[in-house]
Amino acid sequence: LKTQKDFQEIETCDLEYFKNIIPEEAIFNDLENLEKYGHDETEDYQFKPNLVLKPASADEVSKILVYCNKRSIAVTASGARTGLSGGALPLYGGVALSTENLNRIIKIDEPNLQATVEPGVTNQVFHEACKQKGLFYPPDPSSWGSSFIGGNLALNAGGPKAVKYGVTNAYVLDLEVVLADGAIINTGARVLKNSTGYNLTQLMVGSEGTLGIITKATFRLLPYPKHTMLLLVPFCSAEKACEAVSAIFQGGITPSGMEFMERDAIDYALKFVDNVELPIGEDVQAHLLIEVDGNYPETLMKDCEAIAEIVMNFGASEPLFADNDKDKASLWTLRRRVGEAVKSHSIYKEEDTVVPRAELANLLRSVKALGAKYGFKSVCYGHAGDGNLHVNILKEEMSDKAWAEDLPLAIRELFAVVKALGGTISGEHGIGYVQKEYMDIVFNSVELNLQKEIKKVFDPQGILNPGKVFPQ
Ligand SMILES: Cc1cc2nc3c(=O)[nH]c(=O)nc-3n(C[C@H](O)[C@H](O)[C@H](O)COP(=O)(O)OP(=O)(O)OC[C@H]3O[C@@H](n4cnc5c(N)ncnc54)[C@H](O)[C@@H]3O)c2cc1C
Repeated sequence: LKTQKDFQEIETCDLEYFKNIIPEEAIFNDLENLEKYGHDETEDYQFKPNLVLKPASADEVSKILVYCNKRSIAVTASGARTGLSGGALPLYGGVALSTENLNRIIKIDEPNLQATVEPGVTNQVFHEACKQKGLFYPPDPSSWGSSFIGGNLALNAGGPKAVKYGVTNAYVLDLEVVLADGAIINTGARVLKNSTGYNLTQLMVGSEGTLGIITKATFRLLPYPKHTMLLLVPFCSAEKACEAVSAIFQGGITPSGMEFMERDAIDYALKFVDNVELPIGEDVQAHLLIEVDGNYPETLMKDCEAIAEIVMNFGASEPLFADNDKDKASLWTLRRRVGEAVKSHSIYKEEDTVVPRAELANLLRSVKALGAKYGFKSVCYGHAGDGNLHVNILKEEMSDKAWAEDLPLAIRELFAVVKALGGTISGEHGIGYVQKEYMDIVFNSVELNLQKEIKKVFDPQGILNPGKVFPQ
């Protein structure tokens, strides 16, 4: 694996070269921009690039990569930098290649229910553009108002709708990708089934900018569901709330959203978000936010009644039924902003654990037991229907020494539990910079080496997003 010393610093001659291949106004090396592109939403990390480039076409991306590959300059793809695993941090300086100027929705193909889009389009902008034509692009990370389609692809982003509709990879049909040597390739076709050769499309999805730069994507879409119904269900035991999750599916219902929030999570969110008030009983320890969708309100109402009956077996109190768009929007805003609310409290580390959904209660129990053992407070929430629990570990009163030395041991123990429960260490945030040292918990050396060999095939010089994914 390459380290900092294997890469060239950017020199004046490099800058002059880039001015010949992309417009000068797409090149930035002022401190403000270097700092801006030197961090994402992962804790308070800061790794400044030497240069920020904002190409506007695959051809420009290709010219940049041809040059950087020859000169051994590190290139880190940068989307909206909302990532939570430090994937977009330019660890070894070099070029931060921002996709902000690759921001066109190229085509919404209504007869085929497909759309082709560039990576710098914001998820929600794309979602709304499809919706206007009656079409549905389901992957909706809670960061959908800011995160880019390219970043979503590179991390195989999920979101609340994933429980019914699947994550980003379920919608990609074809990608245009620029490889490290500048070659521009297509990985698939605009078809709904494809048994033609190796599946490079799915290899690129989730590859975290280490195998190529995605410059265009074609997605399949669905008809937009006409109605939704939303329930907020209070529980006096967080573990019971987790147990209710799999019972709802076993009861024959597939909700279009099934989110878990511990008491602290919703309390923090209520203080953080303006204009949302919610009466919460003193004994409430957790909530499930459950959405069903479809075209027939009568069917959805029956689903809601069935859900209400099931959750009662797990000690739930009367569900709050959001019966108008304003109330639904308020509840979703609360849920989408929980992460920011929790993190505004303290120095934190966020883990993105995922287990088979029926193991959720066991996972939560283990998190709390480890908190008691190592002396940390955790606030948990997440996409419960997917078995995906975001564990926010708050530093609060923990000493600097315990935070630096004991917490990595606690995280190792937590990840070993996750693995033993049949799960893995990241459901949707990726490995990036902050999880890479734990990869040995989920993959043995044969499995890790296979992945390293794949990296070498695509990027023999190792210029693409160096220092990520693989343990150093
Ligand atoms: C408040 C909040 C809520 C969130 N909720 C969710 C959620 O519900 N579900 C979820 O999955 N995530 C969530 N996230 C995490 C984050 O938003 C997602 O991981 C998102 O997909 C990152 O997109 P981005 O454009 O910000 O990518 P960045 O952070 O800029 O980059 C992420 C990775 O993708 C690579 N990359 C970016 N563009 C390209 C490209 N064109 N080609 C190749 N590689 C590229 C980068 O090098 C990096 O490795 C949340 C984050 C926040 C802050």
